[in-house]
Amino acid sequence: MMAGDGLLVRVRPALGRMSRAQAEGLYEAALRHGNGHIDLTNRAALQVRGVREVVHRALIERLVALDLAQADPAREMRAPLILNPDWAEGDISASIANELIARMDELPELPAKIGFAIDAGPAPVLTDAPADFRIERGTSGGLILRADGRERGASVTAEDAVDALISLAHWFVASGGVQAGRMARHLAPLPAGEAPASPRSRASALAQAPGPFYAAPFGRVEATALLSIMEDGVQAVRLTPWRGLLLEGGNAAPDDPDDPRLSADACPGAPACPQASVATRDLAIRLAPHVPGLHVSGCAKGCARPSRAAVMLTGRSGRFDLAHNARAGAPPLRAGLSPDQILTLFGVQ
Ligand code: SF4
Repeated sequence: MMAGDGLLVRVRPALGRMSRAQAEGLYEAALRHGNGHIDLTNRAALQVRGVREVVHRALIERLVALDLAQADPAREMRAPLILNPDWAEGDISASIANELIARMDELPELPAKIGFAIDAGPAPVLTDAPADFRIERGTSGGLILRADGRERGASVTAEDAVDALISLAHWFVASGGVQAGRMARHLAPLPAGEAPASPRSRASALAQAPGPFYAAPFGRVEATALLSIMEDGVQAVRLTPWRGLLLEGGNAAPDDPDDPRLSADACPGAPACPQASVATRDLAIRLAPHVPGLHVSGCAKGCARPSRAAVMLTGRSGRFDLAHNARAGAPPLRAGLSPDQILTLFGVQ
């Protein structure tokens, strides 16, 4: 799709994992064909930024050669899949995900935003990640298949989970879900079933993962930085929906997945975006530990977060407008604030 800095190419590696060769190939392609910026999405995908139209085809061919994209665009558009980041080769999450990938053709045509979470670790950890259909642990310790927006799900086993998931996707279409667009907005009744187990923390899941967590504030990483990180013994890279990567085999000290800077939103702002009249990310980094629910936007377009934020700062004519529980560009509570005035307002030294 076209973005302010050129084409944006989304990459969804199988099981959210890239071998070292794939990761290095992708980073090099992002430098060669894009502007070297890579975004991590909350659906555990990558976005190569700043791709010029003239090299778009060459980038796609390189991704297909790396086995990071499907040659058939129709297959590429199939539903996104997120796994609990501490999955292991041959465990229940990996087995279910591999079976689902092999049977993708059995799914009906689904709206573009519909996605799946395979979260079959000891307890759910992807509860906050966007997914319309989830396989996770229930209160009994067994697996359940739960539709987003429903508090309970149907009991399934590792063997029949994919059958049940495919049936649920067909039910979604047959019962009018396509018109609703997302499962959470589709109100057709489903049997009650079993509640999910209490979620576990991100930190506890990452403690079981095969490498350190590498945090990417605002979900942005640079291909050059990633290439140098790979030299630190990294054998493979896993994507997470938490604005960070798992570096399998890496030796670096892990970053904190609950670092408040990872929950703040800020678009690239000035000078990266021509629409922006203010710099955004330096201010967001300073405010984030003190201001929960922060969104700093370079202009009223609000690219970094379309939904409301508890504290909304929108750039306008070189200054910021402040609003609460609002989207970018909402009528301000205070208008024309400088960064220093904002820091003082929130008690940040
Ligand atoms: S919100 Fe405005 S300034 Fe920020 S990236 Fe989007 S268009 Fe650019």
